[in-house]
Amino acid sequence: MSKNLETICVQGGWQPSNGEARVLPIYQSTTFKYDTSEEMGALFDLEKSGYFYSRLANPTCDNVANKICELEGGVAAMLTSSGQAASMYAVTNICEAGDHMICAAKIYGGTSNLLTVTLKRFGIEATLVDQDLPEEELEKYFKPNTKCVLAETISNPAGVILDIEKFARVCHKHGVPLMCDNTFATPIHCQPFKWGADIVIHSTTKYMDGHAMAVGGAIVDSGNFDWEKYPDKFKGLTTPDDSYHGIIYTKKFGKGAYITKATVQLMRDMGAVQSPMNAFLTNVGLETLHLRMERHYENALAVAKFLENHPKVAWVEFAGLPDSQYHELATKYMPKGTCGVLSFGPIGGKEGAMKFTNGLKMIAIVTHVADVRSCVLHPASHTHRQLNEEQLLEAGVLPDLIRLSVGIESIDDIIADLDQALSVL
Ligand SMILES: *Cc1c(COP(=O)(O)O)cnc(C)c1O
Repeated sequence: MSKNLETICVQGGWQPSNGEARVLPIYQSTTFKYDTSEEMGALFDLEKSGYFYSRLANPTCDNVANKICELEGGVAAMLTSSGQAASMYAVTNICEAGDHMICAAKIYGGTSNLLTVTLKRFGIEATLVDQDLPEEELEKYFKPNTKCVLAETISNPAGVILDIEKFARVCHKHGVPLMCDNTFATPIHCQPFKWGADIVIHSTTKYMDGHAMAVGGAIVDSGNFDWEKYPDKFKGLTTPDDSYHGIIYTKKFGKGAYITKATVQLMRDMGAVQSPMNAFLTNVGLETLHLRMERHYENALAVAKFLENHPKVAWVEFAGLPDSQYHELATKYMPKGTCGVLSFGPIGGKEGAMKFTNGLKMIAIVTHVADVRSCVLHPASHTHRQLNEEQLLEAGVLPDLIRLSVGIESIDDIIADLDQALSVL
């Protein structure tokens, strides 16, 4: 089969054999039947692979994970109940109490809260770093107990483009994997593994689903990080697991070690599983991901150009604009375009931003981004409202920042709505 991304979107994952359903079936079953006790027992010992209980594996979910894996060019993948669960599992699969990790400061508010508040309670320390720092500066944050680095390829909501190669170099010099949250770019516009990232995380809730129907997440492993090179650092992968009669993940599963461990330990014990129905809906979204990303970007670029020249707009940040400080990085890592999300500040500061959002007629105020319908969010009064002024700035969120997710409606109608809402300022 052809390996082009468009074909994988449509035909990847489910491969029906003779007489089977053409479309990915929804295996709406918690459990699976076996003829003998021995067969079932072998599954519990990880001696054989197969389905027995949908918290550990389900055929609908696996087929969607395989499609996402193929799109990213990875070797193994798993679905989770949400993007948050994906980040949580990706990190805690290799970090435990007493460990340290590094995270890009300009990142999704939920992720920074997970790492700096919730995981702190678990004894994992996260340091936030400005992702635009030069290599020599970044290096200073690494400690002997640093186990991973996490950053977004396009940050939500600030729109910072990650210099993936720079981060991969620093990470590998210090013997830790680079995890990239590739939610906004999607593999259609950026494949982090090609630039040295080791693990990719997704909130499939966004463009992958694309219709605002199903919350979900995914973790993909490139298979490139050599855990055995640092056996003392990644003991969970390189030493025996007593809960499975002493198997060693790197020995038994090779390049599948990381995802297998996350599935049979973390998913088994914590259970943030994606439902087969949501996986099915995500798959329907994936079938048109390539078409939608193209139009989302085309519309967003037109909107950015319109806002840039509007007298009622103070500033616009969109890496697609040639005068954006991230344009060069975007051109390198995302030559086909970035995504449909941009940020801007209407005149009048925080008040102006609220007045503008209240004046919109077609574009809705919702806590969402990256679906077919255009929408706005004012992070300072919505998603990031728990942060103080200083923390807001650190997260790249100005008080007047409007996050606009440009949908795939008529570009003329989108611009007309923005224009009439700005005109009252
Ligand atoms: C939304 C989002 C998440 C969290 O995903 P959920 O599916 O809402 O749990 C993580 N990272 C990024 C970049 C996001 O936009």
